[in-house]
Amino acid sequence: MRIEAIKPHGFCAGVAAAVAKAMAINDCVYAYHPVVHSEIVVDKLVRRGFKFVNSVDDVPSNSRVLVSAHGISPLEEKSLRNRSIEIIDATCPFVWRVHNAAAKFARDGRLVVIVGDDGHAEVEGIKGEVQAVDGAELLVVSHVEELIDIRFTREKIGIVAQTTVNQEVADNVVAFFLRKGFDVLYDVKVCNATKERQEAVKAFKGDGLLVLGSSTSANTMRLCSVSPCSNVFRASNIEELKKIDFSGINFLGVTSGASTPESFFREVLEYLGGVNE
Ligand code: SF4
Repeated sequence: MRIEAIKPHGFCAGVAAAVAKAMAINDCVYAYHPVVHSEIVVDKLVRRGFKFVNSVDDVPSNSRVLVSAHGISPLEEKSLRNRSIEIIDATCPFVWRVHNAAAKFARDGRLVVIVGDDGHAEVEGIKGEVQAVDGAELLVVSHVEELIDIRFTREKIGIVAQTTVNQEVADNVVAFFLRKGFDVLYDVKVCNATKERQEAVKAFKGDGLLVLGSSTSANTMRLCSVSPCSNVFRASNIEELKKIDFSGINFLGVTSGASTPESFFREVLEYLGGVNE
């Protein structure tokens, strides 16, 4: 089987910065949400004494908390500050950009349409920005088809997108509202890391693709879904990799989500017998 390492792989800049921030902490700290969506990284931080929580209410007063690369809503931030909790903010700047755009559209009286995965930490943070504006309305959609039967009561629409969505899906949502004649403002550019990885995966011409990363990682799962390959595999650790049957695959591309450590990527290439580039 011919193997190609599809670039880029390993951490994106936002994840690298968040992990570096976490690794620089030497005392016991709470972490709100996994710092990044990688079990490998989370296990490492747990061994270093981090306590992971999924609600800001679980962070005790007068402690310290690391906010993940996915960000936090204004209400959650207020709840932490009100209890004298020190916030160590690892939110990716790309995520902040979406927060700011969503808040601006909400203040402008627009229905804020968020293209993304409802329930994902990043989307929850963006929703929180909109909900902090009096009288604001929002809608989360993962696909343009979800809009077809909706009767919209506002003429003004503001569209933002989770940083890791499929760019095509976000563009289709924008096109839908423009076609219908709404007054539309939008900021739906996926982050550079997502764009580059999706483009590289779409351009790969082999008959198999192996994506390394967690099922909880939105950008990892998106790489799987945008791939034109007929055989797409995913593994988040070596045990999962060992269970994959690659028989029949002639040309395998290997890539990773933006929160997958480069060390795991290298380990996998070694296990597969190296690349032929
Ligand atoms: S995937 Fe994009 S938004 Fe997420 S941390 Fe990386 S650069 Fe930031």
